[in-house]
Amino acid sequence: MVRIIVGFHGGVQEVGRSCFTIESDGFWLMLDCGLKIRQEDGYPALPDRVDAVVLSHAHLDHSGMLPALHRRNHPKIYATDLSLETSHLLQKDSAKINQLRKERHIYSIHDIEAMHSSEVSIPYGADRSLTENISFKLLDAGHIPGSAAVLLEIEGKKVYYTGDIKTKDTHLQAGAEIPEADVLIIESTYGDRVHPSRREMEKEFLSTIEETVDRGGNALIPAFAVGRTQEVLMMLEDMPYPIYLDGMGQQVTSLFLQYPEYVRDSGLLQKAANIATWIDNSSARKKALSEPSIIVTTAGMVNGGPVFSYLHRLHMDKLSSILLTGYQVEGTNGRLLMEKGYVIDPLTDKELEVRMEKHQFDFSAHAGRHSLEDIAEKVNPEKAFVVHGDPKPCESFAEFLSSICETHTPKMGDTFDL
Ligand SMILES: [Zn+2]
Ligand SMILES: [Zn+2]
Repeated sequence: MVRIIVGFHGGVQEVGRSCFTIESDGFWLMLDCGLKIRQEDGYPALPDRVDAVVLSHAHLDHSGMLPALHRRNHPKIYATDLSLETSHLLQKDSAKINQLRKERHIYSIHDIEAMHSSEVSIPYGADRSLTENISFKLLDAGHIPGSAAVLLEIEGKKVYYTGDIKTKDTHLQAGAEIPEADVLIIESTYGDRVHPSRREMEKEFLSTIEETVDRGGNALIPAFAVGRTQEVLMMLEDMPYPIYLDGMGQQVTSLFLQYPEYVRDSGLLQKAANIATWIDNSSARKKALSEPSIIVTTAGMVNGGPVFSYLHRLHMDKLSSILLTGYQVEGTNGRLLMEKGYVIDPLTDKELEVRMEKHQFDFSAHAGRHSLEDIAEKVNPEKAFVVHGDPKPCESFAEFLSSICETHTPKMGDTFDL
């Protein structure tokens, strides 16, 4: 019998640098090749040989190392067409930012462009053979438009890798459908937490904005460019106030509108995008600040980008509010803002006190604990590996999973026979 070996090279007991391999009969298949953002040692430990990569989605913690891997191994890279396009945007942005900050150069814009000839776009549901005994298909993961979970078939064994997954519907997307499989590799970002009711949270979000603008302030909404910006714009669709859109969310919104098949209601996304005024220069920014308004802008964790043009003007304005729209990773400005009431200005490296009203909303694009349990029960595997989660959520969810099947919480460099 042919051995099938799964290897864990990153994204274990952590969120970041997701990178796994499955090796069978001398063929090395990699699932994702990401980076840990803003961390010096944030690379996966790459194996010597890689024949093909299947990319689950565009976020840099899954795609950020691909251009460097490609320069070294020249593997074919499979993903949905939208994931490939979105990952190029994010990879180029990250290469540019690193160049500006004179930080690590693990790849250049040229490496990103050279990779294109090895990329193969695959629609959801289409079977693709890699060797006589290895095939796979991509299934909609409901996490961001274009995102996929991967269902592999190797020597007759079914392996299901969730990538980042959400099973509940949002304005932007329908939730993931879950297949059965023999082996499950599952994310655990929210492995120990249940999300608050989305409907209640959305009500509170909108009423906070209303109160702010009605008293003459600006509602400043930092949002991730990919997915969250579009979801927020769709929530704001009925708001009777001026809405402005700034930052990379603009490019990503345009891209999503070019791929309407990946969003639930592209007409509604188009309408929401049209209602907002798109800001492309500093005088437009001044205008947005000259009246009570809603401003949606990058970066989602307040770590840079145009959000600072607004913060410089608004940080002491008690009439205005800042509304964070997602989880804030430790060490980011968003986390500092909520815990200490200030941020570090990336231009001066100095503390900037923020006296605006501060709010945080958990509009997560990941399955919460209950949904993760549902996924595991539907897949009904013999063996499971819990990845993509900090140690606590990872262990907590693994404890539940071990009541269903043989469960592992791999460490960096671990390998297992399937
Ligand atoms: Zn993701
Ligand atoms: Zn991720």
